[in-house]
Amino acid sequence: MNIHFIRNATLVLEYADKKFLIDPFLSEKGAMPPFPNTTNQHLSNPTVGLSTSIQKIIDVDAVIVTHLHPDHFDEKAKEVLSKEITIFAQNQEDVEVIKGEGFQNVISLEKQSSFADVTLSRTEGKHGEGEILKQTGKVSGIALSHPHEKTLYIAGDTLFNEDVQEAIQKHHPEVIVVNAGAAQFLEGGPITMTKENVVQTYQEAPNATIVAIHMEALNHCLLTREELKQFIEKKQLSTKILVPKDGQNLSF
Ligand SMILES: [Zn+2]
Repeated sequence: MNIHFIRNATLVLEYADKKFLIDPFLSEKGAMPPFPNTTNQHLSNPTVGLSTSIQKIIDVDAVIVTHLHPDHFDEKAKEVLSKEITIFAQNQEDVEVIKGEGFQNVISLEKQSSFADVTLSRTEGKHGEGEILKQTGKVSGIALSHPHEKTLYIAGDTLFNEDVQEAIQKHHPEVIVVNAGAAQFLEGGPITMTKENVVQTYQEAPNATIVAIHMEALNHCLLTREELKQFIEKKQLSTKILVPKDGQNLSF
């Protein structure tokens, strides 16, 4: 497989001769306001531009949207993606919303669990802990497998918790993509993985390579790559936990 990391949670994944676009967030730098009730209100989102041309990013066979927050499926993505492209959503509720934007081939991962000969398995996740979950809503991750590929688990916007442990135990992924950044509101704890969560994910799957993304693109993501890298280096895990730059390709 090849993971072309674009920005935030957006990936172009080449897997078993198919190309998947995960969580397309394609707006130009600063096109969206900061998230409300968060710090850094002087920063508009996304805080950085795209690393690759939109034409190249959307040249894929299918799209997977883990949830409908605007940093995972934004207005620009709705504008530039073909209305005929196959889009996988986490459940029927999200399918209806995406269909409402004019997309014709939207499939719930609860109803269909493959694309060509790639197996797609929805995984659970929690976008925070406690009260904040009422605001953040339902999210999912996805595991992809194929006889000729390593199993890939994309955890989505979840903290490290029993959902992540279960997904690891069930799918035995060799590569795990986690959304770090420790995003947070003024009230409540982090809603995406902290640096400790990233290491906990590795400890749960010590034979896997962890790829930590979802940093330095949004006003409310407070964990920087540098801080995460220093934390990982101190634990001598730099070869196990990768922290790609926007636009970087990773092959497994
Ligand atoms: Zn997110």
